Amino acid sequence: MSNICVIGVGYVGLVTGVCLADMGNRVVCVNRDKAKSDGLKRGVMPIFEPGLEEILVRNLQAGRVHFTTSYEEAVPDADFVFIAVGTPSGSIGEADLVHVEEAARQIARTMQRPNIIVNKSTVPIGTGDLVANIVKEHLPREIPFSVVSNPEFLREGSALHDFYNPDRIVLGSTDPKAAQRLAELYRPLKCPVLITDLRTAEMIKYASNAFLATKISFINEIASICEKLGADVKMVAQGMGLDKRVGPAFLDAGVGWGGSCFPKDVKALIYMAANTGCHPQLLRSVVEINNDQRRQVLIKLQEILGNLREKEIGILGLAFKPNTDDMRDAPSLDIIRLLLHQGAHIKGYDPVSMDVARKLLGNRITFCSSAAQVAEGVDALVVVTEWNEFKQLDMAAIKVSMRQPVLIDGRNIYDPEKMREIGFIYRGVGRGYNGIHNGG
Ligand code: NAD
Repeated sequence: MSNICVIGVGYVGLVTGVCLADMGNRVVCVNRDKAKSDGLKRGVMPIFEPGLEEILVRNLQAGRVHFTTSYEEAVPDADFVFIAVGTPSGSIGEADLVHVEEAARQIARTMQRPNIIVNKSTVPIGTGDLVANIVKEHLPREIPFSVVSNPEFLREGSALHDFYNPDRIVLGSTDPKAAQRLAELYRPLKCPVLITDLRTAEMIKYASNAFLATKISFINEIASICEKLGADVKMVAQGMGLDKRVGPAFLDAGVGWGGSCFPKDVKALIYMAANTGCHPQLLRSVVEINNDQRRQVLIKLQEILGNLREKEIGILGLAFKPNTDDMRDAPSLDIIRLLLHQGAHIKGYDPVSMDVARKLLGNRITFCSSAAQVAEGVDALVVVTEWNEFKQLDMAAIKVSMRQPVLIDGRNIYDPEKMREIGFIYRGVGRGYNGIHNGG
């Protein structure tokens, strides 16, 4: 059993804290927001993450997890202090380290005995050294400590599964003993552990996210070519994915990647590369292709409906992906902005992110309580997030309730032939329309 402090209770901090408590450790989570901390003490979840509430309540009842706004209550007894604060994009694409620096200062001020500072936030290469320097500078007296970079690879929506079944754990440190002690903490997870130096561990996180974003942008570029040449990108991806060297994951063509990680991390990597005199052309193209994917929705709507002024467009799905309420850099936000700019009226629905969406979009769109309500009287329906409930809809009834039967399937969740049989003018992504192959 270890004493653990986790700083930040967002998607990463809360999952890490609650799961480490569930593994038998004593965990104190520090957060700046008192209302959030007070809510968590009563088992009130600040985010939507399937299964997390149950584990939170179990560990609150067992007295293994605690929440506070005070570093003084959390840091002094800790063997490990995890930093899991946000690292958002700055104004020119750099990672903004203001929260990491603040956490490092607070750790130093409240530390009373040797501990291991574990950085889980995604941070630019060299941040481990920066944290060590800040802590040294603010320690009231000399106390030995080590910094370990332990990048997080969990996915929102399946974060618990990912915590308990990681493909690998990466630990980077200048102090191999500290990395070993952390490896020991994770031993019950029985997964490969890769121990590296600090900078390499920090880079593994950026390189992994950039590669996954590249895979999606690659298939989206292939999808655009498929559309023009009459091939079906879904089958193309299946055929490619069966090759073990390629693999089937992250080959779903669609309106592009978004969320709290890929956009900011690819931008931060481009920024770091450019700053050191590299020319990250591939990464820049990956971002450009992704931006184009959002515009494709607008172009397809204009091809079918002409001028979009005063047209009613229904948006199905607002979260950046299914099973989360996270709307940071969600494709829906870009698509809605583009459509509003053309003078369209928007109706939208999402199974879980409506509260978040209301805060972000205010009265710029009409919020509906179901997919069926979105469809009523619209000129076109656009699927932006592939929630399971959208796959189960009675599409014949949906079509009847629409003003015009235009369906833009931004996630390729429907069978083009079936949709056309129902009477939709159907456009998927990369599914050979224009009468060339699967044409609508
Ligand atoms: P988040 O915005 O959901 O949560 C950050 C939390 O940190 C918030 O609760 C915030 O109040 C708190 N915080 C900020 N400054 C603080 C301070 N000084 N003291 C105490 N609390 C403070 O962020 P997140 O999505 O959990 O991401 C955290 C980090 O993990 C980021 O670097 C992100 O890139 C990385 N990451 C995120 C994911 C993901 O899927 N969300 C996956 C892997 C890695």
